[in-house]
Order: sequence, then C-alpha cells, then structure tokens
Amino acid sequence: MENEKSPADAVKKTNLTPKAIISQKFGSKACYKVEEVQESSEKGCPGLAIPQKGPCSYRCILQLPEITIESGIFKRKKDAEKSAAEMAIEKLGIQISTDSPTPQEASDLLVERLTYLFSNEFLSSDPPHPLSGHLRAALEREGDLCGLVPLSVMAVYDSKLNNLCKCINPKVESNPFLVIPLIMRAASRLSELVATSEGQLSIWRKNLYPPEVIESSVDQQSGTPQSTLVEAIHIPCSQEKAIELVILDISSTGYYLDVIAKKLDLADAAKVLISRAIGKASSETRLYFAAHQSYLIVPSSDHPNAKEALHSEVSLNARASYLSSQDIYGDAILASIGFTWRSKDLFYEDVSVQSYYRILISKIPSGIYKLSREAVLTAEFPLAFTTRTNWRGPLPRDVLFTFCRQHRLSEPVFSTISTPSKAVSESPGSSKKLKVTDSSEEETERASGGAISTDARESVESAVSYQCEIKIFSKSQDLIIECSPKDSFKKQNDSIQNTSFKIISWLNMYFKDLNLPSEKLKSTANVLNVQFSHENFLKEFVLSRSIHTVHHAETEGVKFLEPNTMSMLNTVPEQGVQSLNIEGPDSGVCPSNGSLLCISYSVFLVTEGEHMKENLESNPKFEFEIGVGAVIPDLEVVVTLMSIGQSACFKTELPPKEFILAAAVNSARTLSLLSSKSCCLEYSIRLLQVTEPLEDRMEKALFSPPLSKQRVEYAVQHIKESGATTLVDFGCGSGSLLDSILNYPTALEKIVGVDISQKSLGRAAKILHSKLSNNTGINSAILYDGSITDFDSRLCGFDIGTCLEVIEHMEEDQACLFGDVVLSYFCPKVLIVSTPNYEYNVILQKSSPPSQEEDPDEKTQSQSCKFRNHDHKFEWTREQFNHWATELAAKHNYSVEFSGVGGSADLEPGFASQIAVFKRICPPQGEDLFKNADTEHHYQVIWEWSSSTSSS
Ligand code: SAH
Ligand code: MG
Repeated sequence: MENEKSPADAVKKTNLTPKAIISQKFGSKACYKVEEVQESSEKGCPGLAIPQKGPCSYRCILQLPEITIESGIFKRKKDAEKSAAEMAIEKLGIQISTDSPTPQEASDLLVERLTYLFSNEFLSSDPPHPLSGHLRAALEREGDLCGLVPLSVMAVYDSKLNNLCKCINPKVESNPFLVIPLIMRAASRLSELVATSEGQLSIWRKNLYPPEVIESSVDQQSGTPQSTLVEAIHIPCSQEKAIELVILDISSTGYYLDVIAKKLDLADAAKVLISRAIGKASSETRLYFAAHQSYLIVPSSDHPNAKEALHSEVSLNARASYLSSQDIYGDAILASIGFTWRSKDLFYEDVSVQSYYRILISKIPSGIYKLSREAVLTAEFPLAFTTRTNWRGPLPRDVLFTFCRQHRLSEPVFSTISTPSKAVSESPGSSKKLKVTDSSEEETERASGGAISTDARESVESAVSYQCEIKIFSKSQDLIIECSPKDSFKKQNDSIQNTSFKIISWLNMYFKDLNLPSEKLKSTANVLNVQFSHENFLKEFVLSRSIHTVHHAETEGVKFLEPNTMSMLNTVPEQGVQSLNIEGPDSGVCPSNGSLLCISYSVFLVTEGEHMKENLESNPKFEFEIGVGAVIPDLEVVVTLMSIGQSACFKTELPPKEFILAAAVNSARTLSLLSSKSCCLEYSIRLLQVTEPLEDRMEKALFSPPLSKQRVEYAVQHIKESGATTLVDFGCGSGSLLDSILNYPTALEKIVGVDISQKSLGRAAKILHSKLSNNTGINSAILYDGSITDFDSRLCGFDIGTCLEVIEHMEEDQACLFGDVVLSYFCPKVLIVSTPNYEYNVILQKSSPPSQEEDPDEKTQSQSCKFRNHDHKFEWTREQFNHWATELAAKHNYSVEFSGVGGSADLEPGFASQIAVFKRICPPQGEDLFKNADTEHHYQVIWEWSSSTSSS
C-alpha cells in the first residue's frame, strides 16, 4: 500500500480538479447525487416521529456510464463530490492528460515519432494519414524543392507530434511557429534518416523512397492534370484594409502550399505557416501566413498582446488571430484545402466572403444560435429559457459547448447537485399530506415574497431537485467564468440548461456592446449569478473588441428576462419598425405570450427609394416562441399585431455589417449596395400558424366548455343576478369578459376595463367597438391603461368588480397590495377574484395534451417551471388563497365566499380555478372619501365609447 500512488496524488499532478477530469471525459453523462446523511447521533431520540436535525453530513453518489461510485461521508457537499470523482478516476484508471511525458521524455518520443513519419510504411499507410499526403505532394514538387517537406506542416497535420511539442514547450499552443525549432532539434538526432535546413524551414528524407512504395502510395485514378480553382479569403494584416476574395489555382500536380505561398508573396511552401482548423468542428478551414524568421527570436507572449511583444516590422493580424486563437502576424489567407483521412485526394472547398463572416459570427453565442437556426437576420438567442418544448434551435448547453470550442477554452465543467427533499413521510390514512418545508428550501424553490405564509404547500413535485454549477476554464486551466445559480429544478437537464443559459446571456451582452463599462458588466453578471475573473476574461477576449462591429448605443445594455417576467416585453416601445403594412383579413386568431408561431419570411436589403433590392435570407417555415425575444425585436412587435393568415411588410435599420454579410450569398452585390446607398432591411412575413401556450391548450383540451369560458360564465351569472349597472374588469386583458357580457341582457350601463398591456387593450377595443354599435343597454365603455395596484378615482364605488386570472401574474406582494387598494379605495359592492388552484396542477400535468413535437420524456412535466404558465409569479393552494381572501375581507369589512370552476369543491384537489366572491358589508364610511380623491387620475384612457356620441 505504501508505494501505491493514491488517487489524490495522481490528480494533484495536474491542475485540473478531479471533477473537471470526470467532466472532460464524461460531460453531462456524469451525474452527481449528494445525499444528506443523518448521523445517528447520541442526541437522537428514538421513537420520536419528528425528524431531528443532528449535525448533517453528506455522501456523494457519482453515476457514470460504466459504474456508480459512492463516496465516504463528509462534512461538506463539495468534499463528498470531490472524493467520489477521485475514486472514479482511480477505479476507471483514467489517464490524466498531464500525466504525460516530461519534456525530456517528450523529446525522445518526438525523435521516435519522426522516425516513423519518414518510414516507408507511413507513406503508404491506409487509411491515408493527412501528413502522408504532404509527403507525397512534396515528392511532386519541382526542381530543388522536390521531396522537401515544410517543417510547419509536420506538427499541424500530425497531432501526436503536436502534442509532444506542446509537452516540450507549452507556448506552442498559441504560437505554431515554435514547433519548428523543436522538430529541427529532433531531426538533428536523426541525421541518418532526415535532413533539415534552417534557411529552408524544410525537412526531407535522405534516402529516396523505393519506387514500389511511391507507386502504392499514389492514387490510381488521378486524372489528367487539370487546373482547379478554389476560392479563398485574403485577410490583410491592417484592419483598415478590407478582406477580399482570392482564387487559388491548384492543379492536380504540384503542391498546393506552393500556390498559397505565391499568393502571400512568399518564395515557397516552407515559408508558410498553417493555423489549426477553425470554424466547424470537422472543417479543414485554416489560416495560412508567413513564417517570419523573427518569430524564432521573439519570446512569445502567452496571449496575443502582441504589439509590444514583437518589435519588428510585422504586426499582429488581429482578425486572423481572433479567428484561430493563435498569434498570426502579417497578411493571411483563409482557405479550406487539405489532405484528410478520407481519401488520398486533396480535399478542397470554396471559402467565400459569406463563409468568412459566418466563421466570424460563430465566435459570439448569439451568432452560433442564429447560424444553427439558419436565420442570421431573424433569430435572436432568447431572453428567457421557458420550456424545452417551446425552445427552437440548439439548447443553451450546446451553444455553450460550441462557444468554448470556438474560443479554444476547455470544455465547460458542469456539476449538478441534487438535494433530496426533506419531505415528511406520508402518514397513513390521509390521502393528501401537506409538505412542510423550511424557509431556506422554500427560497431556493421559488422567489419568496409577499405577506402570505407559504409554509404549507402541497407536495406535488418529485423528491429531488437539481442545481447546476458551471465553470469555464482557459486551456491553461485558469478559471474564467463561474455560474452557480440558486434556482433548482425537478429535472437535472433543466438545471443544466438554465445555468448554461445564464452564462450565454451574459456573454451575449458582452459581445453586443463591447464598450460596456466594466461596472455594468459586473452588475449584469451579478443579476445572472455569474462570476468572472476580469483579468482572465480580458486575456481570452481582448481581441474581440477590435474585431466585431460595435453595436450602437441604442441599447442601454441588453434587457434580461427572468422566466417569469415575460410581460416586460409588452412594454418595449415599438421603436425601429418603419413603414409597417399588414395585409389580409383579420382572422381573429392572434399570438399571445407563450404561443409558438410559425411564419414564412424573406429579408431584403433595399436602398433608399427602393431602386435596388437584394434578397438576403428566406425561410418558408420558421418557428419561434413569442414573448421571449427569440427573434429580432421589430419582428416580435410586428407579429403580435397580426392574426393567422395575414402578411406584413416592414423596414428596420441595418444590423451590424457582419450579420448582413453572413446572410448574403451574393457578397459582391451586397457590399456594393451597402457602400453606395443608404440602405435598410425590409422584412416580408406571413403568419402561418399559432400554437397556444400550454395553459390554454390544457384548459381547452381538458374542460368542456374550456376553463376560460367557464370562468367568464361564472362572472356573467353573478353580474346578471346582482342587477349591477356598473362593472369594472381589473386586468381585462383582451376583453374576453367584457365581450361576453354583451351577449346577455343585463342591467349594465357602464363597463370599464383596466390593464397594463397596451397590446391586449388594443385588441379589446377592436372587439368592443364592433359589438357595442348594435348593443342597447350600455351607454359608456372605457378602457384604461394602468396598474390595478394604483388608485384612480374614476373607478370608485362600482357595483361589481371582476379580476379573473390576474393576481398570479403579479408578485405576491403586489397581489396583496391590489387586494388592499381595491377593497379600501375602489370599494366595489361585489368583487370576484379568480386564480389557479396550484393543487390541481398534478391533474393538468398528468393529462397534458400532446403537442406535435414533444419528446416522450417531457410528457409529464413539459415545463421547467411548475406553474401553468410562465408568466405566473405564483400559484396558490386552496389554503393559501383562503388565507389571503379571508384576512383581506376581514380587514376591509367585506364578507367572502369561495367557489370555483373546473372540478368540484368536494372532490380532491378542488376546483381547477378557485374563485373568491367578496361582498361589501356596509357602504364605505364617508362618501367624502370619493370626493376628496376625485381628481386622482392615474390611469390613461386608451379607448372610450359612449352611446350618445356614437349614435349620431
Ligand atoms: N382577465 C383576463 C386576462 C387574464 S391574463 C382573462 O381572464 O382573460 C392576465 C392579465 O393581467 C394580462 O392581460 C396582464 O396584462 C394583466 N396584468 C398583470 N399585471 C397587471 C397590473 N398590475 N395591472 C393591470 N393589469 C395587469
Ligand atoms: Mg394566468
């Protein structure tokens, strides 16, 4: 035992944490579960039914695809997890990457590897090694160059060689030139086999290959030497100069690197350095640039803070360095050519101006998202992660992985913590049991708030909840970003997506406004539970500032939406949209927040006066969730004004040039339009389909008539029976109640609606307008824009007030405030309030109607949120609702009775929508209360109708 390396020692050799190693190997397949272990302490009192809290310890169960590991018991959760990870590393015999050779060992291995690379068998190896393609091509070079292989090629195309070089000199990671002296040194120990020359920057085999080896290595079917033209992009060192298209003429004989060398004004292939592959994971797209001798003497700095580092005439090519995350000096060519494992033939592909810009925007999270949605000018990375069923495009976790790859960071390290619920065991006899949660857990589950006691809550969720923490490290293992939100989720994946989402949102904010002051960057990070090392962060992203087009300050920072604040978007002013034109008959089927829309669209670049028009992007079927910023703001505003079947056309200002060019197929024409005229974008869209939010779908599918209709009918019945002449609907939305009431004969003379959503009020106005013109009894109808927590004297003393499914859209304290305001100031004779019954959700979720694309796993809990609708800030149990209403009534001298719709009062779990009917016991003391307040007008009249003016 003594001699054995303990796993902890093995781990210590690296600067990776054990969890990071597990994560590198298993990603999200590694699942940590931390259990609380109740130490059977002496203090324990046997026989006592109440669980006692002794000192708490933890054990971690780590589930991996192959095995499950159980840690020992630790005082801290972190230690338990660490121990489990260490045990797993030992059990699986995971080779830790830096358990790699010492520099001395690496030098020896380098010599060994070189020997193999210049062997006969390597040249004809099958499948063809990418490097063997270069060795063969070198043999076809003309004259003195015949057989000469550029030194730089060696490490670029042989990853083993490259890794060995990195062991000898870690700086190779960012400066590819540094492999050259290393290979030369190794070659000098192989003077029998190979020769090198510093001047040439080449290596060659001393003895000729036997003819049969050469023969077997060349491709039989190599056709007639035809010339082949490949498009590539020239990226000048000076950022003042534009990138431009160059054509490489690579004939099937000769060496393509010589062709690239010519384009760079270099003597031959050996003077060309090659970057790592960039762009998509499997691409052969690389940057080619000059190997300046000065690199050999320049002490390479770790990060491309190059201007001082290099006191020669060549300067850093910021664009090229940014694309590859390597130091690149001088002009560069971006081309997609190379030998691959797939074939002995040279692979090549055009790199267009569009490809260049696509690679550029794929460095930004929102760009990654836009590209994979194939909607560069239309999609936006959403401002909220609502449901996975409504999410379109790559999930946040995937975007985060891609982002880290694009920036040459280590893979993000995820750790999820599962907290067992401290539920009291179910007592036999009662079928439902209230779960008592302590306040700290309550807080992690949901935003606490309000005066309402929330300690009694139905236990409808499963026993465990998950929290996820993510860390992002640089390649050299410096911690850059860390995010550990308190939010917990029923499903592990939801916690992972949620934390990934926060990091991406924050990164997006950084890239959207690269001039953001650091305080602002910090404060937004705080909101999103992101912590970052300013120094390490800047080190990694310093170049981005000079590369990406800076967004203009029309955004005062980016707005973030917590899942429950989607309604905020309603209030975003309709800036930007110009010459909007909506066509087609109003079908009445309109999107509302949480709906999934399907549109077809085209985007054009148009010049002033519309003399010229270039199609940039089209999509016959594009789906997105409305209300979460999943598309550009202007489009979001426009679709909410449309109904199914309608088309719309509008113009917006230009987005940053890099997005336009990433979308444009015809770059030349697009560029000429952009440079010659003042342009804007024109969107032409058609609303094809609207899928309602889950709450509405459920209410329709599970109740007949639909629950919403039942609520309205309940209220209508009361209004009719009460003989009320005045009605105010608090939070009237699109006016479903006010609309319905007009279908019945009532004593009503005056109807009023209040809401904070102008969009909904607009719809309500349309409906009421068409109905009222042929109505009899009503002589006044008014819609106000205002918050029902504010007082407005014009709503005082109505006969009846209704407030259907509104309070749950406010924070709990605001709902309480509304209660006080309405019963103490507005004082309606009767007030009807409805809100969801949280206890009923079990039933709704069990029988949630299938939607087209739901994955089976999602069936039972298709929301990451446990409420019926993402805009809900809370949903109360019957007990909570009763408590609120009873106290409120008592305080303001009202009586209250409870009822509901959907389900039944006598059957568990009660009504689906619970309703309280408040009745004023005696008139408010002092009518003067109204008089004094008569001038308090806090609401804004949005629409007004009166029979006297309209009958004329
Ligand atoms: N009562 C309607 C709408 C319910 S949806 C119906 O039953 O169909 C909830 C509505 O409450 C939304 O229209 C929202 O804009 C509104 N709302 C939320 N908070 C509000 C507030 N503080 N003041 C006024 N309306 C509010
Ligand atoms: Mg609601």
